[in-house]
Amino acid sequence: MELSNSLPAQLKLINFAKKEVSLSGQYQISDLPRISEIASNKTDKININLSFYLDNDKTPCIDGIISLDIVLVCQRCLGELPISLNVSFNLAFVKHEKQGEKLGSHYEIYVTEEDELATHDLICDEILLSIPMVPTHDYDCTEVMTKQEIVEEKAENPFAILKKIQMADNGKE
Ligand SMILES: [Zn+2]
Repeated sequence: MELSNSLPAQLKLINFAKKEVSLSGQYQISDLPRISEIASNKTDKININLSFYLDNDKTPCIDGIISLDIVLVCQRCLGELPISLNVSFNLAFVKHEKQGEKLGSHYEIYVTEEDELATHDLICDEILLSIPMVPTHDYDCTEVMTKQEIVEEKAENPFAILKKIQMADNGKE
């Protein structure tokens, strides 16, 4: 099943919201450079569902779900860190911050003067927001590394310290 063509490059916010358009489609991780550069599974798919509607007859909104499996680099052990993401969001697009104050608190407020939004940008932003700032394994993945460090410390040349002492003595005389 080929769905990738059903996502337009640009989202026409007011137009789609008035028509209550629902879009679903797939990207490949490599389609989104900002995601691709932190993921090692670049050929895996991203599933996307977007539903447009008007809140209070005037504010364009999107309810969306993005799901993907992404393989990141653990920032503690630098090993592979696979994560399953199911990002769901309620976005409201406003021209001014004040317009956003009247909307329900479940909305993420997106302030933009534009009537269109690049689909790639929206999907990238939502995925990046849902990834932890410093992704790490949820178990103690440093245990192996710490053992290695101890071995290295012991292996350090013990004469290095003697040398320093000798140099200090020479300095005195
Ligand atoms: Zn780790």
